[in-house]
Amino acid sequence: MKDSNVVYSIPCENCPKKYIGMITPLLKNRLNGHKYTKNANTALDKHMKDSDHCFAFNNTTILNKDNNFHKLMIKEMIEIRKEKNAVNDRTDIMGLSRIYNNLITTDN
Ligand SMILES: [Zn+2]
Repeated sequence: MKDSNVVYSIPCENCPKKYIGMITPLLKNRLNGHKYTKNANTALDKHMKDSDHCFAFNNTTILNKDNNFHKLMIKEMIEIRKEKNAVNDRTDIMGLSRIYNNLITTDN
């Protein structure tokens, strides 16, 4: 993957649900980690475990990108909010307004 600071979406193979996440150079092994970690606590792993579904990792799509880490976090939360089939926990977007406010005050 050439663009390393991205927001990505992984569709479920068995239902319309999608997992939305972000990847940065620090998290570059995260996608591979999902494939091989059986007892992780992410929403993606929870959906696979609870529903006995598989995610189509090969069909991962890039939704957005930004080289600014904080802006990328906001873009991830916005994508989660926009996607009504997202399996992500609601807690993933709880920081949206707070972080957005901080960005407005520091980015003028
Ligand atoms: Zn599913």
